[in-house]
Amino acid sequence: MTSIFSRIIAREIPADIVFESDRIIAFRDIAPQAPVHLLVVPKTESYANVVELAAGDPALMAEMVHTAHALAAEHANGDFRLIFNTGEEAGQTVFHVHAHVLAGGLAEGSLGRG
Ligand code: 5GP
Repeated sequence: MTSIFSRIIAREIPADIVFESDRIIAFRDIAPQAPVHLLVVPKTESYANVVELAAGDPALMAEMVHTAHALAAEHANGDFRLIFNTGEEAGQTVFHVHAHVLAGGLAEGSLGRG
């Protein structure tokens, strides 16, 4: 089954793409939860979530973290929050592993300082 993110990678549906390499793509989330809200997505859809990715290709996961940092530096001051929703009850809706990169003035919350 082709994921919605694979359709973005294939340019079948539009997205505001901010970064692309041979293994990774990043684009703005369609429903932003922070001033900067990007999705960093491996092009392969072999991994449904971060647990599978970490076991199957840790170097690709490290590449995602590097990309998240570079994009947070480009779009904000370099500080960022990295979120991998894992499983339906944690709010995961797209089962093609992706990292949410939140930056640019984050609301305080249970995971922040508030
Ligand atoms: P999840 O809930 O699986 O952690 O994250 C999926 C994210 O993908 C959501 O934040 C949602 O807003 C975003 N999303 C879903 N469909 C699209 C789309 O077609 N384009 C873009 N840019 N983001 C999408």
